[in-house]
Amino acid sequence: MRQTVRPCPICTSRNNTVLFTQKFVGGLIHNIALCNRCGFVFVNNSPRQTYYAKYYEKMSKYEDTRDFQLHKDCVKIIEQFINKSDRIMDIGCSTGHLLYLLKTDGFKNLSGVDPAPRCKEMAKKKYGITVETNDLFNLKSGTKKYDFLILSAVLEHLDKVTLAIHILGSLINDGGKIFICVPDADNFYRNFEEPFGEFSLEHINFFGKSSLHSLMYEFFPLYVSSDGKAIYSVWQKDGGVRNSMVKYIQLSQSKMDRINRVIDAAPERIIVWGAGSLTERLLSTTNLAQKTIKLADRNTNLQGKKLKGIDIIPPENLENYKEPILVSSFRFKKEILKDIKKLGLKNKIITF
Ligand SMILES: [Zn+2]
Repeated sequence: MRQTVRPCPICTSRNNTVLFTQKFVGGLIHNIALCNRCGFVFVNNSPRQTYYAKYYEKMSKYEDTRDFQLHKDCVKIIEQFINKSDRIMDIGCSTGHLLYLLKTDGFKNLSGVDPAPRCKEMAKKKYGITVETNDLFNLKSGTKKYDFLILSAVLEHLDKVTLAIHILGSLINDGGKIFICVPDADNFYRNFEEPFGEFSLEHINFFGKSSLHSLMYEFFPLYVSSDGKAIYSVWQKDGGVRNSMVKYIQLSQSKMDRINRVIDAAPERIIVWGAGSLTERLLSTTNLAQKTIKLADRNTNLQGKKLKGIDIIPPENLENYKEPILVSSFRFKKEILKDIKKLGLKNKIITF
């Protein structure tokens, strides 16, 4: 058996520490390794995925009653996150028992995918569920996307988990969700029974909650929970921190466009009230500095100092100036407007 060196499937680092080596019949071994970069535990020398694909085709138990309880537990969680009209697909659905439970509860837009050819026929016959015989890595994003994907007891088997999540992410709508259920490696030692029973031939990834978060970093975690045996989780597309930051930057940029228009439209000589970080930023990135003759601020620590060579004066001294006052603060805007009224200043007021 030729076994390939396998880098960390989450962060691609090859720097890992072997915690244990499990031998199997036929000369195959699994090095259970800890990634020294991201902390994921995985088999660092697995054979190619085609080996496992063949293994599953041959060995798949098709219908294991032990899974029935797991499916019930999954469905309880899944149903909190789906609507009756949602387009739902179970990846690695076996004979479709989990989908059948959803069907019984009134969900109609259901389909499944499984690489084992016999599943398709059995799912149709037993549960009336449509199953496509396919490998998830061959799935192509169609015009009609899914609202909800189910990955129950799948990720622990896959060689390329990040690629799998990338492909599945392309199959769902913006705001669509993925349900993931994996054995909870954080708790193997708590449910201890059979020695090394968790190091089976089929399992090459050992997820804890934190490594699941690392894998799903582009998604928003709507639900992550463990019953001690499995982690159940629901992730939303377009909710990851990258998307949140992109939205924040876009919002900021459009607000800056408005601020720039206000500054451009302001007279050539103005007073700026507020010498905080916003003003500091505007003096460096806009043409505010050319128009500002004085800065005013309530903060006595700032009074008497300069920003970009412009004096910061106490607001009380503004009665000597007739120029318009630009209120340069979002946080203290209300207070500044109140202060202007209190001081009886008759200058024209400009706000962002
Ligand atoms: Zn890693």
